[in-house]
Amino acid sequence: MDLMVALHQERRPRRLYRLHFATPGFEEEFRGWQRQRYRTTRMLLFGVFALTVLLTPLFGVTLFEVGADAQPLLRAIHWRLMLPAALCGVAAGFVRGIDLARGLQTAAVLGLWGGILAMRWLSLHGAWNYASPLLALGVLGVALFGGYSWRRVASGTLLFASLSIAIESRAAAPGSHAALQIYTLVAIFATTLAGAFSHELMSRLIWLNHRYNLLMAATDRLTGLANHYEFHRSLERVLAHAAREQRALAVALIDLDHFKSINDRYGHLFGDRVLRDVGALLRNEVARRPLDVRARYGGEELAILWYDVKPAAVPGLVESVLDQLRNLPFSDPASGQRVRVTASAGACWLVPNETTRPEDVLHCADLLLYCAKSEGRDRGCLAPFNNALQTISATPAAPKAVRSHVLHGDLLE
Ligand code: GH3
Ligand code: MG
Ligand code: MG
Repeated sequence: MDLMVALHQERRPRRLYRLHFATPGFEEEFRGWQRQRYRTTRMLLFGVFALTVLLTPLFGVTLFEVGADAQPLLRAIHWRLMLPAALCGVAAGFVRGIDLARGLQTAAVLGLWGGILAMRWLSLHGAWNYASPLLALGVLGVALFGGYSWRRVASGTLLFASLSIAIESRAAAPGSHAALQIYTLVAIFATTLAGAFSHELMSRLIWLNHRYNLLMAATDRLTGLANHYEFHRSLERVLAHAAREQRALAVALIDLDHFKSINDRYGHLFGDRVLRDVGALLRNEVARRPLDVRARYGGEELAILWYDVKPAAVPGLVESVLDQLRNLPFSDPASGQRVRVTASAGACWLVPNETTRPEDVLHCADLLLYCAKSEGRDRGCLAPFNNALQTISATPAAPKAVRSHVLHGDLLE
């Protein structure tokens, strides 16, 4: 829920236009997502630059009207500066380290832009022809297809713009319409900046929507807990993690007692309020470590997953949840009289291995939940995973034994 509130706040125009998420972690997540999204596009962008340079022997001389004496210089700019720079940009797509990739991309952009500036400078000194709007093409390409942050694009564009305008005004050949060239460049650079700004604004909005959709798909709206789908997904993931790390985990299924009667007596809106408050209790007070999961399994059934838990601590954890539920202050909307809400829980714990199946763990907790219900409700039935499955499956009467054993601590491993 807190995440949902943060996502809503970040979508407000005033926050969005700052192009920086204030919520901790968002900015990093967004940049990572952008890097992933633009990995191929950036490689293609620098690939196109490299291809353009590679093709210059085919069109360069005719297009730029290069004299014979200037050809070695043009070749040096293309082959020694711009081609390696473009290839650096392509290579950045294959590199894992963020800093190295960023360094390679910066080198690529600087090399390419440097080459373009040199071409224009030499063109203004009569070595060949290189039209001034071509100066802006590289900048436009990087700004629109690179997916870089607006701040990086803006500082790069401003640096390049100042250099190119300086070149245009200082080295302008007589009769070269320098003012018109500068005017054209400024117009293109301004459009580039505005385009890059709105591009990043849209990217941020898309990321927020994407993040919101992911959250909605994993969250139960009434309680704000993880939903059934998300619980299964997490259980599978955490089981694999616990098997690899050889850590113990505990799973509890909790079912509110006689909830149908509560609905019938006080109305469904009251029932909804109970579920909402129970959800808030679990979210705020229970299983709050990073790999723990609190979920609404269905209707009035909840599920909790504790990762890396000491088996001896499980009865205390389950009892604490049941106790906090018992003490939630509900009152009859009509008479104001206190309404006591209780729950029953089935919980098992294990150190899983690669063959442990999530459905077996849930089945075990489910059997223990039925044990708690048949024992009279408002209590927990707990056992180690293997022990419980064997004992309960062997004899239908076993749940009673499991519970009483657990209450005396015999089954704690
Ligand atoms: P037991 O102690 O055996 O669990 O009895 P119970 O009445 O809690 O169990 P039963 O399965 O008979 O009834 C569950 C009730 O939970 C029925 C259903 O109307 C109610 N319920 C499920 N989801 C919601 C919900 O979102 N809001 C409300 N108000 N009630 C719900
Ligand atoms: Mg129930
Ligand atoms: Mg139920």
